[in-house]
Amino acid sequence: MIYSGNKCKGKNARSRRYSAVFIVAFFSAFLTCGLIFSTYSHADKTKLHLELIGDKNHILSVNEMYEDEGVKLTINNKEVDIKDVSYTVDNKVTSDILGEYTVDYHVTYEDKTYNISRKVTVVDDVKPELVVLTREVTRSSCGNNLRYYAFDNYDGVITDKVVVSEEDSQYKLVVTDSSGNESVAYVPFANEGTDIVLELKGTLIEYVAKGEAYVDKGIKVSNICGRELNINYSVESTIDTNVPGTYRVRYKMSDSPVEQERIVVVYDKVTSNNIHESGEKVVYLTFDDGPGAYTEELLDILAKYDVKATFFVTAQFKKYLPLLKREHDDGHVVALHTKTHDWNIYRSFENYYKDFLEMNSIIEEYTGAKTKIFRFPGGGSNTISRGKSLGVMKYNVSQMNKLGYTYFDWNVDSGDAAGAQEDKIFQNVINGISSRNYSVVLMHDIKRPTINTIEKIIQYGLDNGYTFATLTADAPTVHHHVNN
Ligand code: ZN
Repeated sequence: MIYSGNKCKGKNARSRRYSAVFIVAFFSAFLTCGLIFSTYSHADKTKLHLELIGDKNHILSVNEMYEDEGVKLTINNKEVDIKDVSYTVDNKVTSDILGEYTVDYHVTYEDKTYNISRKVTVVDDVKPELVVLTREVTRSSCGNNLRYYAFDNYDGVITDKVVVSEEDSQYKLVVTDSSGNESVAYVPFANEGTDIVLELKGTLIEYVAKGEAYVDKGIKVSNICGRELNINYSVESTIDTNVPGTYRVRYKMSDSPVEQERIVVVYDKVTSNNIHESGEKVVYLTFDDGPGAYTEELLDILAKYDVKATFFVTAQFKKYLPLLKREHDDGHVVALHTKTHDWNIYRSFENYYKDFLEMNSIIEEYTGAKTKIFRFPGGGSNTISRGKSLGVMKYNVSQMNKLGYTYFDWNVDSGDAAGAQEDKIFQNVINGISSRNYSVVLMHDIKRPTINTIEKIIQYGLDNGYTFATLTADAPTVHHHVNN
C-alpha cells in the first residue's frame, strides 16, 4: 500500500484559495482527514512512502509461526533503512487461535506519524488424523467392534465425531473438523458366519392334540443387525404325538454353536360330549388373573356380542373384586385360579389348597356359589413348582380330582402373558382355533393388548361359524402333561 493523499489534496488547495467564509469547511476537512492530511502538508517538501513487504492479506495455518515481513520505506524516492527512523510494529497475531488479526506499522518522521496495516487470517487447513485400529470386521457386528480414534490439530480429540456407514463390502468412516477438513478411512468386511441369531417362527410353546400331526413352523436365521441369512439348519426332536407329554425341538446350525429351542406340548384330547361329534367348532374364551382394570371394558364388549366366556379369577386386585358379581350376572362362568398368584402356593398341597379355599369363599361372597372349576397358576404343566416342591403338581392334580374339582389347561395360547401385542394375539388365536374343533383359548383380562384385540377375535369367530361357549365340568378337558 502506498500513501497518495489525493482525497485531501483538493480540499486543502481550495481552502487556501478561498476566504474566511470557508474556514469552517476547511477545519472540518482538516478533522476528517486528520493525520493523513497533515502528512501531505509536509509532502510538498518530503515525499514519504510506506509499503508492505509481502501480502496485504496473509493466510497463516494454525499453530504455524508467524514471521512478519515488515515494510519498505521510501523518502523522496529513496529507500531508507527502517532502522534509521522511529518505527514500531503492533503485532496482534495469535497463531494458535483461529481468526482475523491486524499487524499495524507506525513510522514517525519529522514529528509526523505514518501508519499502515496488514490483515493476517489464521486458518485450520489441516485434515484431522483418523486412525483405525481394526483391520477387518464382520458385517454382522453392526460396526460395534470397530476401533478407531480421531485427532485434530485444532479441535483435539474428535473420535466422537466419526461417522460410520456401511458400503457394499466395507465400513466407511468419515470425520470432519470444525473448519470442515475431512478425513476418510475404510475397513473391509471379513467373511461372515458368526453372530447368528435364530428366531422362532410361530410360538415358543406349541400345542398338539394326541394323535394329530405336528407341523414345525421353523426358524428365521439372521445376523444380529437383523438381516436374514440364507443358511441351512437342522431340526432335532423326539416328538411322539401318540404319547402326551412335553417335548423339545432343537434347531442347530452346521457350522455355528448357536441353537434355538421350542417346546411342544402333546395333550390328551377328551371328547366326552357331543359338541365335537356334531362337527361344530367351539371356542372357549378363558381369561385369567382378573378381575382387573380392564375387566369391565371386556365385559362390555362380550355383552355387545352376547358372547359368554370363562374367567379364572384371582383376588390380586381387591378394588375390582365386585366385578365378580357382574361376570356372574352377565352369564359368564366364574372359575377359580388363585387368590394370591404367588408361586409359594406350590410349596405343598396344603399351601395350594388353603389359597384355593380362600379364593372360593371370595367367589361365593360375590356370586352366591362356590365353583368346581379351576385352572392351576402356570397350568398343570408348569415347571416353576419344581423349585418349590418336587412332585407337588402330580399330588395337587390327584388330590383335586379326588375332591371333585375339574381343572382346565388350554390348547390355544394367545401369547399375551409373554408380551404379545395386538396383531400377534389375533394371529395366535385365529391360527389356534382354525386348526381344531374345540379350542380352550388362554388369555388374560389384565393385559391391555388382549382387550384391544378381543372384539376382532369375536367378529372373526362369529363370521366363520364358531360357537363361543363357557367351560363346565363336563366340557372336554384339555390337560397338559404334568411335569412335576
Ligand atoms: Zn395366571
